[in-house]
Amino acid sequence: MTLAKITLKKGKDQSVRRYHPWIFSGAISPITTQPKEGDVVEVYASDGTYLATGHWSPGSIAVRIFSFTRCEPDRDFFRKKLTDAMQYRINARLAGSSATDVWRLVHGEGDGLPGLIVDIYGSVAVMQAHTAGFWRLREMIAGLLPEITDNLVTAVYDKSEGTLPFMARLGPVNGFITGSHPDTNAIVRENGFKFRVDWEKGQKTGFFIDQRDSRSLLQRYSEGRNVLNMFGYTGGFSVYAMKNAAMVHTVDSSDAAIALANENVSLNYGDDNRHKSFATDAFSFLAGMKNEYDLIVLDPPAFAKHQAALNQALQGYRRLNAIAIQKIRPGGILFTFSCSQVVSRDDFRRSVFVAAANTGRNVRILYQTGQPPDHPVNIYHPESEYLKGLVLYVE
Ligand code: SAH
Repeated sequence: MTLAKITLKKGKDQSVRRYHPWIFSGAISPITTQPKEGDVVEVYASDGTYLATGHWSPGSIAVRIFSFTRCEPDRDFFRKKLTDAMQYRINARLAGSSATDVWRLVHGEGDGLPGLIVDIYGSVAVMQAHTAGFWRLREMIAGLLPEITDNLVTAVYDKSEGTLPFMARLGPVNGFITGSHPDTNAIVRENGFKFRVDWEKGQKTGFFIDQRDSRSLLQRYSEGRNVLNMFGYTGGFSVYAMKNAAMVHTVDSSDAAIALANENVSLNYGDDNRHKSFATDAFSFLAGMKNEYDLIVLDPPAFAKHQAALNQALQGYRRLNAIAIQKIRPGGILFTFSCSQVVSRDDFRRSVFVAAANTGRNVRILYQTGQPPDHPVNIYHPESEYLKGLVLYVE
């Protein structure tokens, strides 16, 4: 296979040499024939030295690199990459547990495969391509997944409709690429708890797998407490808290999310009147609530999807955390998160600390949390560290 070649402008090779997986369009010398979206390209320094191989996109991130050594990006190449991702999860004790059959197998840049996400729900793999490059490879990837998971995966569902660049006009349609499943959802297990996951209609690939470790941590602190789970979605935090809390309230603005949260609580505890749910806006709920909670979870959607919205997002985090810190009972514990990629850990901490200072309450940090090991952070790509959490003790 002869691959298109692109050459970087003089002096623009520093970040690739430090293994950062993105090449911005401004770093590239003028090209005579533009590659097509999704083409594999080889990247060269201005002196002709080979640097990397990756997928081409016409946007501001022009190349997403999947190899820093010269390669033939064929089936064997991607088999090796996927096998590495699987082996990492076996070594990190994530795959193959009987208590947990929901985990992420491929986390984009974190696994050296920028543009590809693969989540495992029991025997079903849900794949999301974020680039035309991986969308073109979807059948090859789907074909490899049973093999590299030792036939744990028997069906692969492609959910790229909402993640592919709109301008690419690829016309993706969500559906099974290989195998099938009698339903569009399944019951999976996380640390022994049961959850119904709807990969067809659910957010992301169906479940917020990335909060697994924080949910476990919450279980340690929920005993006997009155728990408020804001932005509850499938009720993940609520199900863990219900193990030993005095009461649990779940809030989400989406009716569908609240229905799913109720179902998940019932799946694990039957009809248990310690749980109540509210399909309403978080800010109005917080404004109207009394100081009855001594454990609050704030896990909002990304407030900033891009750099331009950063200041507004930080204001949002300040406002949200200020009300929670103000109203939580003395000795209360706040689990607060940001999943906005453009909000750094420092920005988030500052917002929360300013919120705390404004309430005048004494606040200590119990834990600082992040994403679990199946969402690995590529140390050469700081942007892959998107999930930040603080567990605070409010006196
Ligand atoms: N904590 C969840 C994930 C939260 S995702 C888990 O562990 O799985 C964010 C959720 O916030 C979504 O379900 C969305 O419906 C909800 N949401 C978004 N805006 C909201 C608002 N203004 N008020 C209440 N919920 C909101």
